[in-house]
Formats: sequence, structure tokens, C-alpha cells
Amino acid sequence: MIKIYLKKKISRRVAEGHPWIFANEVDKVDGSVAGGEIVSVLGHDHKFIGNGYINPKSQILVRLLTRNKNEEINEEFFHRRIRQCWEYRKKIGYVENCRLVFGEADSLPQLIIDKFNDHFVIQTLALGIDIWKPAIVNALNKIFKPKGIYERNDVPVREVEGMQQQKGHLSAPFDTNIIIHENGLRFNVDIENGQKTGYFLDQQDNRRAIQHIVRGADVLGAFTYTGSFEIHAAYYGAKSVLGLDISENAVHQANRNAALNGLDAICKFQTANAFDVLKQWSKEEKKYDVVMLDPPAFTKSRENIRKAITGYNEINLRGMKLLRPGGFLVTSSCTSLVDAELFLETIDMAARDAKRKLRQVAFQTQSPDHPIIRGMENTQYLKFLIVEVQ
Ligand code: SAH
Repeated sequence: MIKIYLKKKISRRVAEGHPWIFANEVDKVDGSVAGGEIVSVLGHDHKFIGNGYINPKSQILVRLLTRNKNEEINEEFFHRRIRQCWEYRKKIGYVENCRLVFGEADSLPQLIIDKFNDHFVIQTLALGIDIWKPAIVNALNKIFKPKGIYERNDVPVREVEGMQQQKGHLSAPFDTNIIIHENGLRFNVDIENGQKTGYFLDQQDNRRAIQHIVRGADVLGAFTYTGSFEIHAAYYGAKSVLGLDISENAVHQANRNAALNGLDAICKFQTANAFDVLKQWSKEEKKYDVVMLDPPAFTKSRENIRKAITGYNEINLRGMKLLRPGGFLVTSSCTSLVDAELFLETIDMAARDAKRKLRQVAFQTQSPDHPIIRGMENTQYLKFLIVEVQ
């Protein structure tokens, strides 16, 4: 195995267990490496740090898979790790649908596996993990005997790793339009063409958190995607629900989902740019009892955080203006670049601009099948806030 020696002063991050080794942290590489190869990382003093995969094309030169010198990286390793992921999900009660593998937080950097009951969707976002796809698929077959496995690697970040974007079956072909159950409701999930892996499992607990505040309410939801929050609102007793999304395909799915649950009389969806509509309707002084916002990550880079904050401020300000006094704002942010504190400050700023007072009902994060590891910023990403807007 090729050895990688780090510089004398090892970063605290690496010392404390973070799996990433950046190119500028490396002192020397003992031999020539091929992209994706398993390498051994040692300190300046030649003490063993860990084994992981390398990609000279990536700024993150090595991602560690193990800190145990005796743990070999082979097919058996992936089987064992994925089994551990499954045991953990069972222990914490996320069985039917769950994020089975959440990359770094499960010590399998850049591997995502979502379990939709008997169907599995995989993303291998770095070259060094992509190489092990056959082993990963074998492990899933052994542990679960799935009805189908699908690869959603149509993700731009793969290009940074020198890989192509691609998607397709990793099992015998199956109908990629499936139905999942969540909180007593049913949802169509389009594994092949939906966003990300097809469905946002990270909000599954948060969708339940709106249960009481929507009863008898007029509800407006923006950035609805396939209508999951809105259909929950109708199910929990809202008087009327309107969901907005810019994607026609998402709105079509949302309407199908409302009908699937017999809630299409109460729950309607429209294709619209939420920025335009929220602005227009707040000018027209339309009023709702609950406004729900779940926008996409407004930024993927640190340089654009300001832009993201402006976006959050804008939609939350409009959302608050659309609320009757004593109404509830349900608002999310899914980028780790905006941390919890900054998000809450942004909401406070929007409240000041809207001349409204807030009272916090709930502040939550992603469901625990997406574990958070302190010190690994990208594992702590979702903010979900409910406030009463006075
Ligand atoms: N709440 C959803 C997830 C929302 S994902 C759920 O729980 O499943 C974000 C959604 O915002 C996407 O569906 C995307 O199409 C939509 N979107 C992005 N920009 C938008 C805009 N300007 N106006 C309305 N919707 C937008």
C-alpha cells in the first residue's frame, strides 16, 4: 500500500477524527498513486493515522475509511460497515424509509444510500468510493434482498472528482415510480427523475411537527416539491392548503400525491416562482394562518453566503407579512454553510423588517437517520424552525 506522510503539524481536525486530508496537509507521497487507490496515511513521525482512498484530482486528497491499522478495505469491509449502518437505524427506530448511509457520519465518506422500503437509491460522490460500487451493491443484496437498487449519480460534484454524471439501475430493471408510507400518508416517489434521490427523508420528523398548528388553518406552502408538508397539513386538519413550486413536474407529482391520499379537495398546488408570488401576494395583503417555506440551498460555496442570507431574508420577510397576527411561520434551511445561529439571526432580521414579534415553537434539525458528528460541518445542515408571528 502506498504511504502518505503528513506534515509535522497535523491539523486538529485530522487529530480529532475528521476523515478528510487536504493536499496541502501532505508532506510526501511514497510512490505514485492512481485515482481511487487505497492508501495508508501516516504522521510525520511515521505513526499510523488511517487507511483511506486517494484522488490526486481532488483538493481533498485522501478520505479516510478506517483508523484501525488491522482493518482491511475489501468487499467484506463494505458489507460489515453497511450492516452496522442498518443495525444503528434499527436501534434508533428508522426502519421502513431511512437514510441508511449518510457518508462521513457513517464513516463511509461520500456514500449516500437512501432506503425506500424495499428499494434503494445510491450516490457515490467520490472516485474512491465509486470504485467500490459492486461491493456496496453486493452488500445491499445480501443484507436486504431488495426489490431494486438505483444509482442517482447525476450530480455535478462528481465532475470535480474526474467522474461523469450518470444514473441507472444497479439491479434488474424495476418500475422507478414507487409509493412510500410516511406518518400514515402515502407518497409517490420518482426514483429516476425526482430531485436528489427522489424524496427528502431528512424532513420526515419535521413534517409531523406541524400537526397542531395547522388545524383549521389556511395554509400556504412554498418550495413544496412533491407536496409532502402540504399534504401533511391537509391530513392534520387544515381548512385549505396551497402549495407552490417552480417545477411543473414537482407540482404534477404533488397533485398526484394529494389525490393518492384523498386530500385533493383541500390541498391544491400551483406552478410559480415563490419569490415573485410571495412579494405580489404580500402587497395584495393576502392572509394565511400558516406559511411554510422549504427552499433549496441558495448557495453551495462560502463566497455566496451573503446571497443566501439575502434570499432567506426576502422569503421569510414576505412569509411573515402574509401571516395573520398569531399565525405560524414554518421555515427551513438546508445548507450547512449557514449555521443555526446565522439562520436564527436572519429570521430575527426578517421579523424586524416586517415589524413583527416572534415566539419560538420548535427548532429542530434533520431526522436522526442523518446523524450529526460534531466537527464535521457537512453533517449538520438542516435547520427547521416554527415560530408564532405576533
Ligand atoms: N419541502 C419539500 C422539499 C423542497 S426542495 C419536501 O419536504 O419534500 C426545494 C424545492 O424548491 C424544489 O422542489 C424546487 O423545485 C423548488 N424551487 C426552487 N426555486 C424555487 C422558486 N424560486 N420558487 C418556487 N419553488 C422553487
